[in-house]
Amino acid sequence: MKYWRKYHPDIDAADPRYNQVSLIYSVLLIMVAYFGIIGVLNITLFDAADIAFYDFIGFTLGVSIYLFVSRGGNFQVASWAVMATLIIILFAFVHLAEGRNYSLLWATMLPPIAFFLLGRSGGSWISGLVFLYFSWYLYQLLSQGVTANLSLGALFNFVEVATAQIFLFRFYERSRQEAYEQLQKTSITDPLTGVFNRLYLDNSLKKVLSLASRNKQPVSVLLIDVDHFKRINDEHGHLVGDVVLVALCKILKEATREYDSVGRWGGEEFLVICPNTSEAQAKALGERIIEQVREKAVNGGIHVTVSIGAATFNQVDEKSIERLLQVADNNMYKAKAAGRNQVVSTASVTS
Ligand code: GH3
Ligand code: MG
Ligand code: MG
Repeated sequence: MKYWRKYHPDIDAADPRYNQVSLIYSVLLIMVAYFGIIGVLNITLFDAADIAFYDFIGFTLGVSIYLFVSRGGNFQVASWAVMATLIIILFAFVHLAEGRNYSLLWATMLPPIAFFLLGRSGGSWISGLVFLYFSWYLYQLLSQGVTANLSLGALFNFVEVATAQIFLFRFYERSRQEAYEQLQKTSITDPLTGVFNRLYLDNSLKKVLSLASRNKQPVSVLLIDVDHFKRINDEHGHLVGDVVLVALCKILKEATREYDSVGRWGGEEFLVICPNTSEAQAKALGERIIEQVREKAVNGGIHVTVSIGAATFNQVDEKSIERLLQVADNNMYKAKAAGRNQVVSTASVTS
């Protein structure tokens, strides 16, 4: 476990901020250690108090930002503060060294950190502006005749490397972001039907119930099971069975509201989570689904029906999940026992 988790127990490895926060702390620790040690060396060994002054500025800012984030400060603000500190030190270094080649090496550290902490747009702007400034500054030095530190060829090389770096990091950052979004989507989607999977439903139930308990709102769920689905598989084959499930999900998505979540609970069972929905509304939604499934034929003539168990809790707490699902499951079996192709619902006033 990363040591900084003690400051941010809510940010686990699945959190999109995890790597960013990790980098902020690593950069801060390196900054504090590096500037502290080099600052002391500059005073004691190298007799360079002017450079040590900037080292101690970097050290102090590093410690301040560390205290800021570890006490719950905003990560976005901390990221910009880290970048500002690095840029101040970089400016000071390049100016003190009057553009000597070795000082420019440090400028190449900027894009990887800027793109990672600020994203594609912030990273491009910051790296672009800083590199533009350095190119201009080096050009000024050359035109003033300070050629001992730098040649025109070196300036061209700097501009070329700086431009290539920005384009490469933009490209990598975009690939990383797209891959992350794809992974995010795949991890919560059922591959056959495209609706949410069980993992998403479990998390969504937790969130919806905690919000409902805070806002004192009712929550409904609908458990939907295809009637005699085994027969469809037996008569038409598994592939046709799959097509029926895909078609059913399309109907479920169309029949539900935008803020309802439709997901595959398992096999041929689906769950609809309906925030802020009364028993009457849940029943009406169930009836609408029954109606639309009955009306639409799949694959040129296969008709299916569904049985739905609905459950509504008017008062919930975070522990209501299992009971809510239990009631929906019981009601679904009641709907089966009563002849299928129908909704059975119950509201419970207390959780
Ligand atoms: P009931 O009306 O009582 O619900 O009867 P049923 O036949 O639907 O219920 P049962 O639980 O006996 O059968 C469910 C079937 O669903 C069995 C299983 O092979 C099938 N099934 C589960 N997942 C899939 C899938 O992804 N694709 C296909 N084609 N069939 C599936
Ligand atoms: Mg079933
Ligand atoms: Mg079934």
